Amino acid sequence: RRALGSLGKSRAKFISAEESTGITFDDFAGQEYIKRELQEIVRILKNDEEFQDKGIYCPKGVLLHGPPGTGKTLLAKAIAGEAGLPFFAANGTDFVEMFVGVAASRVKDLFASARSFTPSIIFIDEIDAIGSKRGGPDIGGGGAEREQGLLQILTEMDGFKVATSQVLVIGATNRLDILDPALLRKGRFDKIIRVGLPSKDGRLAILKVHARNKFFRSEEEKEALLQEIAELTEDFTGAELQNILNEAGILTARKDLDYIGREELLEALKRQKGTFETGQEDSTEMPEELKLRLAYREAAVAVLACYFPDPYRPFAETDIKSISSQPNMRYTEISGKVFSRKSDFVNSIVRACAPRVIEEEMFGVDNLCWISAKATLEASRRAEFLILQTGMTAYGKAYYKNQSDLVPNLAAKLEALRDEYMRYAVDKCSSVLREYHSSVETITDILLDKGEIKAEEIWDIYKRAPRIPQPAVNAVDEYGALIYAGRWGIHGITLPG
Ligand code: ADP
Repeated sequence: RRALGSLGKSRAKFISAEESTGITFDDFAGQEYIKRELQEIVRILKNDEEFQDKGIYCPKGVLLHGPPGTGKTLLAKAIAGEAGLPFFAANGTDFVEMFVGVAASRVKDLFASARSFTPSIIFIDEIDAIGSKRGGPDIGGGGAEREQGLLQILTEMDGFKVATSQVLVIGATNRLDILDPALLRKGRFDKIIRVGLPSKDGRLAILKVHARNKFFRSEEEKEALLQEIAELTEDFTGAELQNILNEAGILTARKDLDYIGREELLEALKRQKGTFETGQEDSTEMPEELKLRLAYREAAVAVLACYFPDPYRPFAETDIKSISSQPNMRYTEISGKVFSRKSDFVNSIVRACAPRVIEEEMFGVDNLCWISAKATLEASRRAEFLILQTGMTAYGKAYYKNQSDLVPNLAAKLEALRDEYMRYAVDKCSSVLREYHSSVETITDILLDKGEIKAEEIWDIYKRAPRIPQPAVNAVDEYGALIYAGRWGIHGITLPG
């Protein structure tokens, strides 16, 4: 994709209609409902007058939010491509300058250019760089300047009339929580779409998109291999999946092979995961202490998986044959409709803490190593998701009820509530592991001895183990309600059996 270089003072990249048509919604896979919503916008953009006669107007702004690498930029380009409209791409950081007046005049410039090409599309990536809350802490300086830039965006968006041919502004951010509420008000970014991590089916679809220009031995083999990779890549973004296929292509070329095979794909996956390279998948090669830590980690994950069983994803088996910063436990994924309650989310936060809690308990807080490093990150990510995305906490509800009603100081409140959930989760996790200490030890021994263990045996050990009852851990959420009460929860989580 060639851009016509910097445009005036605005630093934005201009991509003409002819060029932008290269990318379409076919390039984005998974999360079909997002495409459907955006396709509707494209239809309105293209047939502006026809829709206006019916009193239907295109939103002025669409805000795409979600983790990096999930395809937000791709979607913005696809909108431009599908609608065949010129596309002006800028980055929020382009407007953050220490010099007085520059930010505002760059914004003005950008909108002026886009307006001279109407209908057209402006894409502002990382819009939080300029659109963060006014009056908040001034991280990185340039606060007053940024504020001017933000005000200018608001002025520009309010400025253009909803009559005939317009400019559609698409913003992207992974920090919706720090955006200034004024941006989200009606008539500005009034369409907010979350672009999340893909499901298993979504991952398969994304892999297929990026396998289009790759060679496989046969269609059947391709299908089977991509299916396998999709199952092994929970929590991967589209960008990471694309990397796996590219890396596999490079490995294939390096080996002078004609087709991408299973070995290359798994090797590429391992690299993407940042898996510790042992040279061979054999735990005999690992230092004894690492092996022990790994066995404890897997045992703790297994016990927590029994204590808080995920009704939709029973676990299958685990091993200590390879090392990565994430647990080796494998699950049988059940697709279809998942019905999750608040307690399910909370329990999943507790489960995610297991690697970190066991390492701290067994080796001491000053003696942690990287094999549990991702656990706390993962747990707090889940807590944030529960708080903001599910609509099951006060903030999430306000979030969905009325975008313009954003809770004041949401970021600080989110942090405080997240910490509360984390404190609860760590406490709960640690009391479960103490209660089932003997199961943890037994599973660890089996792992050290045999290298692997299956669900059936884990359940057996878990159910038969002598337990040392621990005092109940409870916490209250922002309503003053119990976050969790009682062993299997008060909401009737199915007992294992
Ligand atoms: P973001 O803007 O959300 O950070 P990008 O749009 O830059 O993410 O994604 C980077 C690349 O990853 C895209 O160009 C695309 O090749 C790939 N990608 C990400 N998500 C998807 C998806 N859902 N379908 C197909 N490809 C994707």
